[in-house]
Amino acid sequence: MATLGIPANTIAVLKKYNFNFQKKFGQNFLIDTGVLETIIRESAITKDDCVLEIGPGIGTMTQYLAESARQVVAVEIDKNLIPILKDTLSEYNNVEVINDDILKTDIRAICDKYNDGRPIKVVANLPYYITTPIIMGLFESHVPIDSITIMVQKEVADRMQCGPGSKDYGALSLAVQYYAKPEIVANVPPNCFMPRPNVGSAVIKLSRYEKAPVDTVDEKFMFSLIRASFNQRRKTLSNGLTNGGIGMTRDMVTDALEKMELSPTIRGEALSLEEFAKLSNILYEMKKNGV
Ligand code: SAM
Repeated sequence: MATLGIPANTIAVLKKYNFNFQKKFGQNFLIDTGVLETIIRESAITKDDCVLEIGPGIGTMTQYLAESARQVVAVEIDKNLIPILKDTLSEYNNVEVINDDILKTDIRAICDKYNDGRPIKVVANLPYYITTPIIMGLFESHVPIDSITIMVQKEVADRMQCGPGSKDYGALSLAVQYYAKPEIVANVPPNCFMPRPNVGSAVIKLSRYEKAPVDTVDEKFMFSLIRASFNQRRKTLSNGLTNGGIGMTRDMVTDALEKMELSPTIRGEALSLEEFAKLSNILYEMKKNGV
């Protein structure tokens, strides 16, 4: 099968199968060999690796992954793509295609079956309509993952990488940076896809930390604080937490901010991950001791 990264070959396959793009599945197929090679290089896949690909489409990136990895497991929701993938990947005996919704897939079972429970690498040109639930699902499930190298909307990549003070900083930045080291490795213009998306894209690599970069007594509690702080973005942190439905009184929040030598009128978007961890540890103790 000819390389699908070359536009003429993708067009030939789409014609052969009379394939209709489904907008609801975020189908924008890659047609740029340079971008594909960058993704493969940055994901640093070796012949020891088991790779999970989310949304293989017609198998463009899957072909590259199959050449570099020991095993590829590709989860695709669109049943119309399954016969096409059978054709385009027929040369490879190290690819397993699963017709399923990634948000309902048991990824741990894939790790166990194809990689003896050892950490897998995730590589994908993600469907943009579910980028955040996919990433959060991968992290929060605590499935063993070594790295996640993904194509996302440029704006979302910026959100994952930025720190306090940036307009893009929010709950996603903090969650990603708690679990992994983010690094944007390429910016990708719309003409590298078929059909062209309306937005710019970027490839971001998230290298999973073995140990979180901050100490938290209760990870879930810290994330509930973070969500409450950013739910009410234009309010002060104190208002956000007091009205956030997480059982905090104004006195508790004022005391905690004072202990941290932070202004009582500070906003959530000014706090670093380290400060959120510290604040959540103080408030957790207060809550536990009924202070
Ligand atoms: N990997 C291909 C490429 O780069 O050319 C296709 C990428 S396209 C942006 C996203 C792919 O994800 C599509 O094939 C789409 O059908 C699939 N997809 C969308 N939602 C999905 C879901 N919930 N679970 C699994 N695959 C999904």
